[in-house]
Amino acid sequence: MTASSTTIPAIAVYPGQADSLHLTELPRPVPSAHEALVRVHRIGVCGTDQEIIAAKFGSPPAGTRELVLGHEVLGRVEAIGAAVTSLAAGELVAATVRRPDGCPACQSGQPDMCVWRNYTERGIIGAHGFMAEEFVDDAAHLVPVPPSLEAIGVLVEPLSVVEKALRQANLLQRRLTSWAPSTALVLGAGPIGLLGTMLLRAHGMDVVTLARTPKPNLAASIVEQCGARYVSSKEQSLPAVTAELPPIDLIFEATGVAHLAFAAMGLLGNNGVLILLSLTGGNETATLPVDRLNREFVLGNKIVVGSVNSAREDFTAAVSDLARFETLWPGLTGRLITHRLNGLTEIDRIASEISGGIKTVIEMPTA
Ligand code: BGC
Repeated sequence: MTASSTTIPAIAVYPGQADSLHLTELPRPVPSAHEALVRVHRIGVCGTDQEIIAAKFGSPPAGTRELVLGHEVLGRVEAIGAAVTSLAAGELVAATVRRPDGCPACQSGQPDMCVWRNYTERGIIGAHGFMAEEFVDDAAHLVPVPPSLEAIGVLVEPLSVVEKALRQANLLQRRLTSWAPSTALVLGAGPIGLLGTMLLRAHGMDVVTLARTPKPNLAASIVEQCGARYVSSKEQSLPAVTAELPPIDLIFEATGVAHLAFAAMGLLGNNGVLILLSLTGGNETATLPVDRLNREFVLGNKIVVGSVNSAREDFTAAVSDLARFETLWPGLTGRLITHRLNGLTEIDRIASEISGGIKTVIEMPTA
């Protein structure tokens, strides 16, 4: 593909049609006055992409059948529109995911709290994503990433999701005159669970991270290297783990297993917050001890809250926290990137779950 070509390659699906991943062509994007043109360096693949590939989630832009995937991106600004003052050509950037609808939350600048849910999300709902050579976006949606974070900057978006979760907990806990969480539980050791573990450790909390796979494994070693404890649910049950701990102030649920989200309700300490982060595409049902849970939630002033997406402020927090992680645990964050795909050519490997893998990243030729 030459620079003068009028189209660029991209990876797309037909939402609603399982396993329809294919290479497509988009018109070469041209930035308007408020936009920047970004050359893609890396794109992360996440559980949401897998759900879209499996036809459980996602929708194409209005009037089309095809959706270009990809919402975790690091790229370099190639050109800016005449009205852009916040960015310069050559800067590295990450991009926020959600674009607003007309609802009061979106209109007041909080699309991550959208109430109508007619928003679009790049690479997910109604808007093309970043699995392409280049893209354009309004400069307001692009967040600068320093060159020192070039190798791990593709993790800004998933980290922003846990940044939002922690911000929600802190906002909710303004009901307390003193909120100094010291004990946290993270359920799940995928990218969100691991980045959540690192974030809570960076905030000085004692963290236990629970996941299925027994030690030794890479996720367990990342958990332990940032000073948290890793427990396999195959070796110790959830109640047995928490019985040994002080009351739990904060739980991040990131397993992708809905019944665990509800089991986690029974583990929370008084005044504690449970944040649900898993998007579960299935239809699982369960029987729950509702009297006990309700009683404990009322008597213990406990909170359970869902959290999705992230705001620009969560992206900027993620950029500074990635730098902080590098200072605290040099090289550790990069170990989350376990698989690197060569450009847009290895389509089959995007769809497949890679055993023992944590984060797959597509490396674009950037020369
Ligand atoms: C993305 C979020 C998005 C959510 C639901 C997640 O994978 O990180 O930005 O809001 O999927 O579509």
